[in-house]
Amino acid sequence: MKQINLRSILSAAFLPIVMVACNPGHPDKEPPVTPPKFEIPKTHGDTLAYFYKKTLGIDSTQIKGDIIDGDIFLPKTTLSNLFASFPFEESKDSTKHALSPLKASSNIVRTIKIKASNLSGEWLNAARGAIGYWNSFLISKGSLVTFMLYTDPAPTEVEIAFDCNYTGTTAITNFPTGDGRVGNSISINTCNATIAAYTTKQKAYFLAHQLGHILGMPHSDGLGKTYYDYGYATGDVNSLMQSKMPSTIPSQVFSAGDIATINKMYPRVDMTEVSAGNLSELVGMDFGSDDGVLYYHPNGKVTRGTLATTYGPTTTYVAYSKLTRDQIITITVSSHNRYYAWYKNGMVSNGDRYDFNSNPFDDYRPFTLPYNKTVNDIVGITCNKANDDIYTYYKDGTYSVGRTSNLAQYYYGLAYTVPVGKQYSDIKAVGSSTDGTYYFWYNDNTVSYSASPSHSNAQGPIKVSTQK
Ligand SMILES: [Zn+2]
Repeated sequence: MKQINLRSILSAAFLPIVMVACNPGHPDKEPPVTPPKFEIPKTHGDTLAYFYKKTLGIDSTQIKGDIIDGDIFLPKTTLSNLFASFPFEESKDSTKHALSPLKASSNIVRTIKIKASNLSGEWLNAARGAIGYWNSFLISKGSLVTFMLYTDPAPTEVEIAFDCNYTGTTAITNFPTGDGRVGNSISINTCNATIAAYTTKQKAYFLAHQLGHILGMPHSDGLGKTYYDYGYATGDVNSLMQSKMPSTIPSQVFSAGDIATINKMYPRVDMTEVSAGNLSELVGMDFGSDDGVLYYHPNGKVTRGTLATTYGPTTTYVAYSKLTRDQIITITVSSHNRYYAWYKNGMVSNGDRYDFNSNPFDDYRPFTLPYNKTVNDIVGITCNKANDDIYTYYKDGTYSVGRTSNLAQYYYGLAYTVPVGKQYSDIKAVGSSTDGTYYFWYNDNTVSYSASPSHSNAQGPIKVSTQK
């Protein structure tokens, strides 16, 4: 039976190539683009096995139903469709590998929303950690695709669930199926004793591995112990995508092979590097979840710089659709990689880095201040990335603690200080990094920082350059 199936798949595989060759000028279609050909050596005995090995690094004899490699779920129909449509030709013996097209498309999904409602306690913290690992890498390399932990009852791209319907694996994670969307499910095996004993850090690493699969990353220690097509021919022992969880978590989450693979699958977007200009001209700034500093200019450009420079890769963003960008009081970034903007009309929007209004649920709503404050009293707002509490600073030297739509939900009237030589009204924006440090940026291109939200014992101010 196996041979018959193989032959029928093989003949189907050649069909599209013949059709393209015979009908190159179909009037209803754009002229065909010749895709790169995947070479299959004539001497290879089992074409299908060779194909699986070279595109996904999987051993075709180990495919069990829709489970293709340990914890990777990919329907057999997707595999056979992939094989049937993949452009390949027989050729001389070749060691060339092929890039699997099963991955997310940044045209279809940019902010990958992960449903948070099934998560609590250690698993919630682990999911935050896993997303942090990925975002810090993806954002710093200029990828358009990033992750967000999503708490709203609106559609998400990925659900993390818990199940005990199988044994032997730690999880079953869906691979992308070729429609440009990520794999949509990570099902953690609750009956696996090893998983139950993981520390939060191990859980985060484990979930980061599963996020690799939903992006279409194969196992790095698959057949031939290589990431196929990525030039890592020998065992990449510190790879996140090893099929077995390491006993010790590597100090670097992404190995050289992981980075080469991700760069190939999700090429960096070439963003022009420019300066966002002087702090006094900007609408807001804060640390992103990768600890780069995002500088938002009223001209619609956002630059990812550092604490010490407003120069860096630059792209565009939009404010709430009915308002102009000069209506923004300030912006902040949450631990979930969510971007909030507060407006002078008393409203707050939430979205992502490029679109402050992109969340489909509860994306624009009013916010309240302490009873004795107006929007004109605000000098800065930031989100504590440990618990997502919102800290709002006012011109009279007080700050409040609350949530996005109630800035004084917990406290107000708390006192803060500024370094010698600064006035409260000199503050341009307030930010916070993932290590819990609070930053005050000033209109004269300086910044000070403190471990305390009251800004006691502040370091600096130091200069913020507008140059590279
Ligand atoms: Zn895996």
